[in-house]
Amino acid sequence: MSTQVKLKRGQKLCTECGSVNASRQRVCKQCGHQFISKNTPIAGEVKDWKSLKKGTLIKVIQGTGPYFISKKDCDEAFAGEKICMGNTGVYKVVGVDDKGIMAYGASPKNAGFTYLYMGNARLSQTTGTYLEPYRIKFVKKYKRKNK
Ligand SMILES: [Zn+2]
Repeated sequence: MSTQVKLKRGQKLCTECGSVNASRQRVCKQCGHQFISKNTPIAGEVKDWKSLKKGTLIKVIQGTGPYFISKKDCDEAFAGEKICMGNTGVYKVVGVDDKGIMAYGASPKNAGFTYLYMGNARLSQTTGTYLEPYRIKFVKKYKRKNK
C-alpha cells in the first residue's frame, strides 16, 4: 500500500517539503518555497540571453527548463504532473548559439559542460520530453567555500 497523499484536482505538491498546496498558490504555505510559473517575475532575470558574454555567471531558476509529464503515479510525481529534468545551479557562460547557452557548471555539484536550451517550447518526439526554455538570472558574486 502506498502511503502517498493523493492529490485532488487543483492541488500541487511542494518540491521542498512535500506539503499539499492549492495550485494557485505562489508560495508554499508550509515552508515558503516559491513556485515558479511562466508569469512569475524574477528579479535580475536575463531576458537577452543571446548577448551573454563568455565568463558571465548565471543561475538557472529551479523548476524551469525541460520536463516530463508523468504518465502514472510514481515516487517523484503523480500522474499528469511535471517532473523537471533540467539543470540547476550556477553556470559560467562559454558561448551561445541560436537555440541556447553553452556553459560550465560553476560548483562541484554541477561541474561539467552543459547546454541550456533557450529555444521555443516544444515536445520532443524522440524522447517525449517537453523542451521549455530555461529561465536564468545574473549572479553578482558567487561565493566559493575556499577563498
Ligand atoms: Zn513547502
